[in-house]
Amino acid sequence: VVDIQGLHKRFGDNEVLKGIDLQIKRQEVVCILGKSGSGKSTLLRCINGLESFEEGTLTVDGQAIKQHDPAAMRDLRQNVGMIFQSFNLFPHLTVGRNIMLAPSLVKKMPKEVAERAARTLLKRVGLEEKFDTWPDNLSGGQQQRVAIARALAMTPEVLLCDEITSALDPELVGEVLQVIEALATEGMTIIMVTHEMNFARKVSDRIVFMHQGKVHETGTPEEIFDNPQTPELKQFLA
Ligand code: ATP
Ligand code: MG
Repeated sequence: VVDIQGLHKRFGDNEVLKGIDLQIKRQEVVCILGKSGSGKSTLLRCINGLESFEEGTLTVDGQAIKQHDPAAMRDLRQNVGMIFQSFNLFPHLTVGRNIMLAPSLVKKMPKEVAERAARTLLKRVGLEEKFDTWPDNLSGGQQQRVAIARALAMTPEVLLCDEITSALDPELVGEVLQVIEALATEGMTIIMVTHEMNFARKVSDRIVFMHQGKVHETGTPEEIFDNPQTPELKQFLA
C-alpha cells in the first residue's frame, strides 16, 4: 500500500531523512523504533503529506504523491489516517460530533449516515455510551480512543500512529494498545512509532529500526529483538 523509495527530507541544512526505502504491504503491521531525533515522526508526516520532501518517490495506494497538486493531497489525507501523541480532539464538539466532522465535511456524508457510522466506531473502541460527552470529561485513554475512532471514520487504507500512548498515564496505556491490537487483527494496515517494546513484539509483522535518518535495520520481531545485527540496534535495545 505504501511504497517509499530514496526519500530525502531536509530542514535547512539538517538532512533528517537520508534516503529511506520502505515498502508496506496491505494488512501489514509495522512498528518503527529509534532514538529521539532519528526521523520517525518526520517519516510518518511525509507519508501523510503533512511534510514535503526534496527527493525520492512516495506512493500510497498506487498513487504517487504530488505535493503541488492540492486535489491529490486531499485524496492522500483521506486515505491515510494519523493519530498523534496529543489527542487533538475539538474541545467545542461532543465526542460524536468529533467523529462525524470529517465524513460530513469532506465526504459529504448525510448526517444520519455519519451518526450511525460514528456510533459503530465508538462501540469498536469501547465507548458507545460517550457519544454526547465532551472531550474534556474523558480520561486521556478515552480521548485517545475517540481520536482513533475519528481517524477510522474516514475509512483510511493505512493508519499511522505516532507515539500515541506516550502522553498517557501508565494505567491507561493498555486500553489504547488493545484497540490498536484489535485493528491489527482485523487486517488494518498500521505503521506505528512506539516505545512499547512488548507491544511491538506482539503485534508487528515487521520492525523497522531507524538511526540518523536511515532505515538501519529491519526484520521480524524475533530477528530485531532476539538477534539484533548492528551495534546501534544492540545499544538501542540495551
Ligand atoms: P522523537 O523520538 O523525539 O519523537 P523523531 O525520531 O520522531 O524523534 P523527528 O521529530 O522526525 O524525530 O525529528 C528528526 C529531526 O528533524 C530532528 O533533528 C528535529 O530537530 C528535526 N525537525 C523535525 N521537525 C522539524 C521542523 N519542523 N523544523 C526543523 N527541524 C525539524
Ligand atoms: Mg517523534
